[in-house]
Formats: sequence, C-alpha cells, structure tokens
Amino acid sequence: MQFRDLGAQYQRLKPEIDRRVQEVMAGSKFIFGPEVKELEDKLADFVGVKHCVSCANGTDALQLLLMAWGVGEGDAVFTSDFTFFASAGSASILGATAILVDVDERTFNICPDSLEKAIEEVLKEGKLTPKVIVPVDLFGLPADYDRIQKIADKYGLLVMEDGAQGFGGAIRGQRVCSFGDAATTSFFPAKPLGCYGDGGAIFTNDDQMDVHLRSLRAQGRSPEDKYDNQLIGMNSRLDTLQAAILLPKFEAFVSYELDAVNEAARKYTEGLQDLVITPLIPEGYYSSWAQYTILLKDRAQRDMLKAKLVELKIPTMVYYPRGLHQQTAYADMGLGDDRFPVTTSLTGRVLSLPMHPYLSGEDINKVISGIRSIL
Ligand SMILES: *Cc1c(COP(=O)(O)O)cnc(C)c1O
Repeated sequence: MQFRDLGAQYQRLKPEIDRRVQEVMAGSKFIFGPEVKELEDKLADFVGVKHCVSCANGTDALQLLLMAWGVGEGDAVFTSDFTFFASAGSASILGATAILVDVDERTFNICPDSLEKAIEEVLKEGKLTPKVIVPVDLFGLPADYDRIQKIADKYGLLVMEDGAQGFGGAIRGQRVCSFGDAATTSFFPAKPLGCYGDGGAIFTNDDQMDVHLRSLRAQGRSPEDKYDNQLIGMNSRLDTLQAAILLPKFEAFVSYELDAVNEAARKYTEGLQDLVITPLIPEGYYSSWAQYTILLKDRAQRDMLKAKLVELKIPTMVYYPRGLHQQTAYADMGLGDDRFPVTTSLTGRVLSLPMHPYLSGEDINKVISGIRSIL
C-alpha cells in the first residue's frame, strides 16, 4: 500500500498521457506551447474565474501575486501557523513580515477570531501596515471565507487564497481558487491535481491583473514588445510538457477522482469515528482530500500508533510536525508556543492516513482494522 499512489494513476491514464507527451515532443514547442493556454482556459472555466495564469510552482504563484500587489518591507501578511512553509515564506522573501495566526482545532484552518486579534495587535503596535490575508485550504478543505472576507473588508485588506492543497474543493458549490481577491495553486505531484514535476497557477477575475501577472512571470516583459522589460519580474513558467500531462489528469480529476477520494474519506470516517477524532467537514463544504488527517489523544498515542502501523506496512505521515513559529528561519521573531496553543497541540496529535483516488476498498479496510486493533 502506498501513501499516495502516483504509479496507479499513471497506469490508468497512460495511453492519453503518453499521447499528449509525444505530441509535445513532435511539435517541439517546449516553452508556452499551445497546451499551456489550453490548460489555463480549462482550469479557469472549472474554477469559475476569468483568468488562470500558470507558472513554475505554487510558491512562485504566491510570490508573483504579492509582487503584483506591491507587497514588501513594512507590510504585514497574515497567514496560518499550521501550513507548508511557502504560505508565509513567499511574503518574507519579499521583505514583508509574515504574521502567523493560530488555527481552528477541527478544520485545521486559520482561526478567524485569532486572525482579527492579530490584525488589531499589528495596528496597535503601529510598526507595520496590514496588507494581505493568506488563508490556506489545508488538507483540501476550504478556509472559512465567509468570516475571513468580512474581516478583510472591515480592515481594508486583500485576500490571497492559498489553494495549493484545496484545488477541487468548494463551499456551497463555489470552487476553491475563486475566493478572495485572487488565488493560487500548486501542481506538485502529490497535490490533489499534480503534474510530473513542478507547476503552479494563479487565478483572478481582474483583466489588468492578468496582464500584469503574465508580464511578471516572464521577466516583466511588455505584452507588445518582448524585448522591452517594463517591470522587474521573475522567470516562472509552466513547461508545455507539464501542461500536456495535466490535461488528461484534469479530465480524470473532474470525472471520477474527486468522487473517489470523497468516497474513501467517507469509509475512513465511518470506520474510525468512534475511536479517534476524524476530519470535520462543515455543512456546505466539500474537500478535495489532499490529506485525510486524524487526531489522537496525545503525542505518545500518535507516535505509538504510527510505529505500529509501520509494522503492518501501512504508511502514514505527520503533517505537520512543527508550526511555522517553530521553524528555525523564523526563530528571530521570538514566537513562543504559548501564542499558538492549537497548532502546538496539533503537531503532536495529527496523523495523515493513505489517501488517493486509486486506494482500493481492501486497503481502506486494512487501514481501519489496523488502527482498530492497535487502539
Ligand atoms: C505545496 C504547497 C505550496 C507550494 O507549492 P510548490 O508547488 O511546492 O511550490 C504552498 N502552499 C501550500 C499550502 C502547499 O501545500
């Protein structure tokens, strides 16, 4: 059993993926080939926004948007403490200050109450200008955009949705990567929609922002004259090959993979909910199940369960073993665990189970009965 079986997916989609890859090889348009635009149009359509701008990875997507908004030194960018490093690192690398916010214990997403408190604190201190909120759709579940948007409106902040793990998720039918002022995602292989290397994208309804981002991802070149650089940009492109691989993968994602992971999650929850804390999906929310993460009583129980599952050849992962406030790169912010009680507790208690669209019923039962016998 694999934690995320990318090989099983390739075997299923091989003819179509191979055909599209061969076409790119034969056509030799390796940079900005027609597959890139085809993919961007399909993804924008699926998400329900006007523009999709692809780029080299999910981290660049976040950074490009922050650059487009002019975020830099003296600006405060608020994000979750319990996430992958890039949600905050993309702001720090531009000279802005990442303000880490504690999360909700049941959804694992940024806690709106703690967010508002953090904004008030920054305003009171008077050193930084609050600029952007970066909610993360952790493990596939959209953040609480109803409340986050109200807070953003109250304080005049921009919202950048980090949908790297949430692509395919929704709230009352509105899809992930359409929330806030603009959104980003990642096509890293293990994400809900992954390619065979690095890739990412930005989503926006703003026509001018679309032009701006297309320039920024290509060295800041002018849309009219590619040898006139109007801005200081990056070199951040999605390879044609990756777009060609993503096209058939996206078809499978929409037509049955999202259903399959939701069915797997339903079975896990049914088989485990009396024994451990299973993921909470609020009413009206739909997850793309980047991870299926259970909560154990304490670190001792989590570590014991993980070790015993290894003996049963059941792979699990700890996402995440530390909060961003515990990262060495942020040690100089001097943030103690007491500021982040929920994240600190979660890092000792979370355990992510094997989850992907090709997980068999037998494997799901094996995981459930393994956990039941150990606990
Ligand atoms: C993976 C991830 C990213 C970064 O994506 P890359 O494509 O690896 O650069 C950003 N935010 C979150 C929440 C992620 O999980």
